[in-house]
Amino acid sequence: MTPMPAAFFGHGNPMNALERNRYTEAWRAFGRSVPRPRAVLVVSAHWYVHATAVTAMPRPRTIHDFYGFPRALFEVDYAPPGLPELHEEIADLVHPAWVGADVDSWGIDHGTWSVLVHAFPDADVPVVQLSINALKPFDYHLQLGAALAPLRENGVLVIGSGNVVHNLGGVSRALPDAGFDWAQRFDGQARELMLTEPTEVGRLDGHRDFDLAVPTPEHFLPLLYVAGVAGATGAPVDVLVDGYAYGSLSMTAYTVGLPAPEPEGSGVAAPLPEDPPPDGANI
Ligand code: ZN
Repeated sequence: MTPMPAAFFGHGNPMNALERNRYTEAWRAFGRSVPRPRAVLVVSAHWYVHATAVTAMPRPRTIHDFYGFPRALFEVDYAPPGLPELHEEIADLVHPAWVGADVDSWGIDHGTWSVLVHAFPDADVPVVQLSINALKPFDYHLQLGAALAPLRENGVLVIGSGNVVHNLGGVSRALPDAGFDWAQRFDGQARELMLTEPTEVGRLDGHRDFDLAVPTPEHFLPLLYVAGVAGATGAPVDVLVDGYAYGSLSMTAYTVGLPAPEPEGSGVAAPLPEDPPPDGANI
């Protein structure tokens, strides 16, 4: 079986779930370009708790973990099946790290569904979430990501969903599609590392703009899981889409091990040689 790619998505504003823009179009194109996964395992910024756990319910519920948004966003119901047996596979892979099975607490939060409504709009691919353990250092998250890399061989698409730069206190409504200098510097350094030495993104806490770009770690940490997968496999990392929102968010998305798209026109079958003219044809 061809290994599944992995990916990090900058999910940004929850309204992206309802909108069509160049980010959501890139997420859609990603979903269409990957082999059909057995399951999607999502590390979402919005399940940031004091434990490492995976959802293990057969029908995870849609969680609307925000407020102050239009009613239409609360009415989104993204209801794919779960895959409870994935908990055991993950527990075996990450041992001696411990991962719990959540059967009744979480489900599918908007960090996950705001992207997957675009990438897998039919909601027919099982979805499992992995929590981010708020008590652990960066190296733990990188190593856990690396330990999850073999799931790629078993049809599991590992996704991180957060934002490399995420400073809600610094949001400027006057800059819907732009980034402050410090946001661009930090995102640019993250990109350079992701494309060359992905596991080094764990050292970005020493970057001069870290405190502005990552005032709280939950949106940054999903990147470490995807960097861990990339470091463990050596699979190439590419930028899927990039940009900034409201000055203080970066929307950069990365793929790991995604085959390059076919060059324009190469998907068209070569014309068959013309049949030879029948004997006696008058040409
Ligand atoms: Zn978020």
